[in-house]
Amino acid sequence: MRTLYVRIIVITMAIMIASAIIAFAVTNMYYQVYLKPENDQKVTQIAKNIESIYEGNNNQSLPAFLTSIADLGYKFHLVSPNGEAKTLGEPFSSMKMEQSDIQAVLNGDIYHGIGNYPWKPFVTGYFDNHLENTIGVPIELNGSTYALFVRPDSMQQFGEMRIFLAVLLILTLLFSFLMVLISTRFVVKPIKKLKEATKKIAAGNYHLKLDVRRNDEIGRLANDFKKMSDSLERTEEKRQEFVSSVSHEIQSPLTSIQGFSRTIRDENLTEEERSHYLTIIEKESRRMSLLSKQLLTLTTLDHEKEMEMIRYDAADQLKEVMLATEWQWQEKDIAIEMDLSPTPITGDPNLLQQAWMNLTENAIHYTEAGGTITIHAFRDKTGAQIVVEDTGIGIAKKDLPLLFDRFYKVDKARSRTRNSTGLGLSIAKKIIELHRGTIMVDSEPGKGSTFTVSIPNE
Ligand code: ADP
Repeated sequence: MRTLYVRIIVITMAIMIASAIIAFAVTNMYYQVYLKPENDQKVTQIAKNIESIYEGNNNQSLPAFLTSIADLGYKFHLVSPNGEAKTLGEPFSSMKMEQSDIQAVLNGDIYHGIGNYPWKPFVTGYFDNHLENTIGVPIELNGSTYALFVRPDSMQQFGEMRIFLAVLLILTLLFSFLMVLISTRFVVKPIKKLKEATKKIAAGNYHLKLDVRRNDEIGRLANDFKKMSDSLERTEEKRQEFVSSVSHEIQSPLTSIQGFSRTIRDENLTEEERSHYLTIIEKESRRMSLLSKQLLTLTTLDHEKEMEMIRYDAADQLKEVMLATEWQWQEKDIAIEMDLSPTPITGDPNLLQQAWMNLTENAIHYTEAGGTITIHAFRDKTGAQIVVEDTGIGIAKKDLPLLFDRFYKVDKARSRTRNSTGLGLSIAKKIIELHRGTIMVDSEPGKGSTFTVSIPNE
């Protein structure tokens, strides 16, 4: 039973055979309990009728009379008072009969051989052509009582019917078998295709052609399978993209570190030049360090580890963030406006702190000296709302949809001047999403940007 195909066929055949056996046993039981007594009564009535017809009109000998009736589909066994016996009609296949039963009929009793015929679960006895399987009635002839045993000649009465039923049964089984053979192919075929598709996916080939038009479970399975392979393909593409971005991000600071370290070896450099190159090297290595820290953060967030959710006031946390970044905005002479109402929030304070930090640092970095940053926090019926607004350089419309993508930087040249990795907003977005919240941006080049975070009530 190696393939599903063979398995289904074997199981179906086993079910068909088992059903046939059970059906036969149950029908046989029904025959034994309900039909056999009825049959006994029917044949008893026929025997009595034959007896009364003969007794009322006996102008021919009893054997001749019985022979003519036997032609209508019966068989008889006639026993005279002195024990002489004669079979009329087709012979019985077994002539076994208790002498006492014969004697009882000769004494005037009725013998119910059909009703009392023994039965076994898989033998009906209905067609058993035995002398014991008859009805015996006493019949008067010339003042003496004879014993007349009667049973229908089933071969004559139902011979064709038996053949008809046997042919019907054999053909039913044969055709069912053929149909099972053919239909199973149709059932198994899509599963085979799915199996091949799985192999292809395992080998890294995601371009699958699956029949997803079927509406049944197999069709839905194929559909889901296709979706899964598409999603795997996207994940694989993203992974490759991610790896190449990471390598690129690592490669560029490394190249500049290598270049400047080589330059520093030049003994003709002034102290000032040397110090300048060392500052660049330090800056680049800090950028790499930030990059690796941010990558680590992203990996942790991707694995959605258990968050430490507590209820606290986000307004207080925003004040702390502004304090922590104070030297940055003061250095750039940026005005800070804070409009903070109590904003209770349920979340992981460490993660959310990181998100607010990324938004604020961006606002400070992309706002020219003399600009203003407004931090607004409040609570409405949907939840907590945190808004970070700046009067900075703004973002072009075409960049907005890509802004939260990993490694996306609007101005690549400019971002090299700062510790810029293009990961800050994607980290912020991921954190907000882990809190089932949303982050939106509204911006106009030259006027400023507004980042709005909504975190729903728990
Ligand atoms: P980065 O480390 O480059 O700041 P982010 O993911 O934080 O990475 O930001 C992605 C890009 O979005 C930045 O390179 C910048 O061009 C743009 N950006 C982010 N915040 C602002 C802002 N407040 N004003 C203007 N541009 C912004």
